[in-house]
Amino acid sequence: MSFDEIWGQDPAITTLTRALEGGRLHHAYRFEGQRGVGKEMAALRFARALVCERGGLGCGDCSSCRRAMTMSEGEPHVPVHPDVVLVGRGLYRSVTGQAEATGIGVEQIRRVVLERVGFSSHEGRALVFIVRDADELTVQAANSLLKTLEEPPARTHFVLLSSRPNRLLDTIRSRTLPVRFSPLSETVLKRILQQHGKNVEVAAFAEGSAALALELSDEDSLNEREAFVAGVQAALESKDFSAAIKFAEAQKGDRDALKADLSFLAQRLARSARERGKENESHLERCARRHAVVLSAINEIERNVQSALVLEVMLQELRHL
Ligand SMILES: [Zn+2]
Repeated sequence: MSFDEIWGQDPAITTLTRALEGGRLHHAYRFEGQRGVGKEMAALRFARALVCERGGLGCGDCSSCRRAMTMSEGEPHVPVHPDVVLVGRGLYRSVTGQAEATGIGVEQIRRVVLERVGFSSHEGRALVFIVRDADELTVQAANSLLKTLEEPPARTHFVLLSSRPNRLLDTIRSRTLPVRFSPLSETVLKRILQQHGKNVEVAAFAEGSAALALELSDEDSLNEREAFVAGVQAALESKDFSAAIKFAEAQKGDRDALKADLSFLAQRLARSARERGKENESHLERCARRHAVVLSAINEIERNVQSALVLEVMLQELRHL
């Protein structure tokens, strides 16, 4: 079975396998769910089924199936099968000459999708476009896709992946059929960690995300996160605010790393609320308020507000709670 390796997503996988087996495929899907729960894995397997030489759910064995799942070694790092096209921010730097620091640009959509979509699939079965983090499409890029999303040529399929589907334009949402992916249970996370030979204890901090669990199982990365939480703690306990400003300004790393650090902090607060909140209501309330402040900081980072500023505001608010 083609989707066996995807754990903990039975409703989503059932939707996809029924569509494949019944031959009732929608031309544009939208896989929604937080980061690291199997959306891209499922999309690649869905594409594999569509290009498989034997049809059905994909045999996993024929040359097409294998090429659909093999990533090219050089840039861009995308499936080697010419009819399985992965789109994503910064993926085609070598083709478009653009780093796309803030979003998937219209140039990528033109060159990688629109110029390709007019031609039939190379190998005659299907042409599948997978858009990683589709919420990162710039407005111009998203608009350039609308017509094709609405009426793609025969046997052309789109799968848009998003962990923040509410950020997609309504016009994109209305043209795509949602398939929902849930956070993974701790049991599933432990199974995944075990499969990778990693410490299963971190499953509890991974917020249902296999990607985060694997990241945390790396000792260096866990230590970095712990250091961040300790830094926040110290900045909050310090008498004057200059320690907080210093800490905020020292966090100059990339935004994704900062977001991950903040998620870890949020998770810590949620855990503390769970552990001590039962007997102590004021602790519970304080954790909940702090948690909300951290989540709003993550939101600001996503909106590309300057990191040091976001952290300063966050620390200031946390100090008053
Ligand atoms: Zn096959």
